[in-house]
Amino acid sequence: MIGAGPVGLFAAYFARLHGLKTVILESLNEPGGQPEMLYPFKKILDIPVFQEITAADLTKRLLAGLTDQDLVTGHKVSKLTQDDGLVIDDEYQVRSIIIATGNGAFKAKKFPLKADGAAEDRIHYFFKNPQQFAGQKIGIFGGGDTALDWSQELADLAQVTLVHRRDQFRGMESSVDKLKASGKVTFRTPYLPKSLQLAGGQLKIGLKQVGGDEVREESFDQILVAYGFRADNRFVSKWGVELKQGLIDVDRAMQTSVAGIYAVGDACGYPGRVPIIGIGFGEAQIAVNAIMQDLFPEKSLTIHSTSI
Ligand SMILES: Cc1cc2nc3c(=O)[nH]c(=O)nc-3n(C[C@H](O)[C@H](O)[C@H](O)COP(=O)(O)OP(=O)(O)OC[C@H]3O[C@@H](n4cnc5c(N)ncnc54)[C@H](O)[C@@H]3O)c2cc1C
Repeated sequence: MIGAGPVGLFAAYFARLHGLKTVILESLNEPGGQPEMLYPFKKILDIPVFQEITAADLTKRLLAGLTDQDLVTGHKVSKLTQDDGLVIDDEYQVRSIIIATGNGAFKAKKFPLKADGAAEDRIHYFFKNPQQFAGQKIGIFGGGDTALDWSQELADLAQVTLVHRRDQFRGMESSVDKLKASGKVTFRTPYLPKSLQLAGGQLKIGLKQVGGDEVREESFDQILVAYGFRADNRFVSKWGVELKQGLIDVDRAMQTSVAGIYAVGDACGYPGRVPIIGIGFGEAQIAVNAIMQDLFPEKSLTIHSTSI
């Protein structure tokens, strides 16, 4: 298994349930993927069975189904040798691989202005504890779901200004409406950050109006940058795995263009796919069933967990 996001963790659990030995290789030092890194505090409302569950709790529950031996953190997979079976990074000989790398190894797109030392310390790309910003003036930069979720989370704790280069947001419209209705967040759109300096213990950021001449200065104690992540799934193309528009192409059994290599979760793409966790869980089940059929063609497939 490559990637210990929610989908990789569930795939490993489901594979173990079917009696398969698994190892999950995760590039970060902790498991959980996007929910754990980007929105651990958020209440997720669309995980089957749970009316609501925080992302951090979801990771905890997914990990409860695994043992320590299943998970290797701090290992970014890059190499595959296919001469003598499948060997990952010259170290792990496996019969099948499930790629569950999401958008690829996390590499946040940087704030476009140069900051050094003390200023850099006030620029954040992840955070775990919203309380660290309590009572402060916080600038949130970005227009996707992460920026909106962070604004929502901090709105009651801090003085939040949301800065985006367009009037329209990429994130969910309902989140934008909710934030606007709350009146707790100041919207600065369409503005782009053009200058930055640290003065009097605050970041002074010059914001230039997009399509206009206005430049205004805003002061923040800290800023949070949610400009997204650079996708880094192209490493698998060296293995012969085909990608379409940056996503790993799979067939109906979640198999890639290389036999024995499957892809699930946000890493894969096919017409109509929706990038949410529940869909990834289903894909993990399809992939594991296909692997069982592939590895043990003589066995009749046990589909229901009660019969395993
Ligand atoms: C702000 C925000 C809010 C969201 N809200 C919801 C929601 O309410 N409900 C919902 O269902 N979905 C939501 N999503 C989407 C959801 O988070 C993703 O669909 C889900 O995380 C995909 O899971 P995954 O396991 O496929 O990938 P990820 O969560 O991206 O995990 C992939 C893992 O693979 C690791 N990895 C990558 N490359 C390598 C490598 N080369 N070697 C080893 N490890 C590697 C990464 O470090 C990461 O840990 C939200 C997303 C965002 C950004």
